[in-house]
Amino acid sequence: PAPQVIIIGRPNVGKSTLFNRLVGKKLALVDDQPGVTRDRRFGDAELLGLKFQIVDTAGWEDEDAESLPGRMRQQTEAALETAEVALFVMDARAGLTPLDEEIARWLRGTKVPIILLANKAEGRAGESGLLEAYSLGMGDPVAISAEHGEGMGDLFEALVPHL
Ligand code: GDP
Ligand code: MG
Repeated sequence: PAPQVIIIGRPNVGKSTLFNRLVGKKLALVDDQPGVTRDRRFGDAELLGLKFQIVDTAGWEDEDAESLPGRMRQQTEAALETAEVALFVMDARAGLTPLDEEIARWLRGTKVPIILLANKAEGRAGESGLLEAYSLGMGDPVAISAEHGEGMGDLFEALVPHL
């Protein structure tokens, strides 16, 4: 079976847009409203000849802290068990939020290798958010634009060692 790559991040950072780009079809719903992707979605992805299964998640849509160990997060946890690597997506335009930091803390407690992606990094609007991403202590963030297809070569290079 193809190695699995899981996309994780708070709502609205562009997880489903990245999923769609890697799968090349409009399989995941993309919307300005958080919470549109209700469940895990699986797709056959290809990036510059690299083939893998990609998993889009929606485990952090509920902003009520008490519900974080709820069903959606458990699904993310289950998906992490089988993944070779996780793509942790943050929004370089919005900068880091408390929820990003909470997810990062939670991810550090898991065994899966993490690639930090600073999405929406097209143009100059993402520059300060990209710098903020370093403070997560998860290594150098990879700047991408899922919407415009920028940074895909850098994402490829970050993925290759894990697949
Ligand atoms: P998700 O909730 O993390 O799955 O995020 P979505 O993929 O649904 O995207 C949320 C919003 O961000 C949508 O309006 C997308 O069009 C927008 N978006 C996604 N990727 C980019 C990007 O690279 N640049 C910009 N400027 N917007 C993006
Ligand atoms: Mg989504």
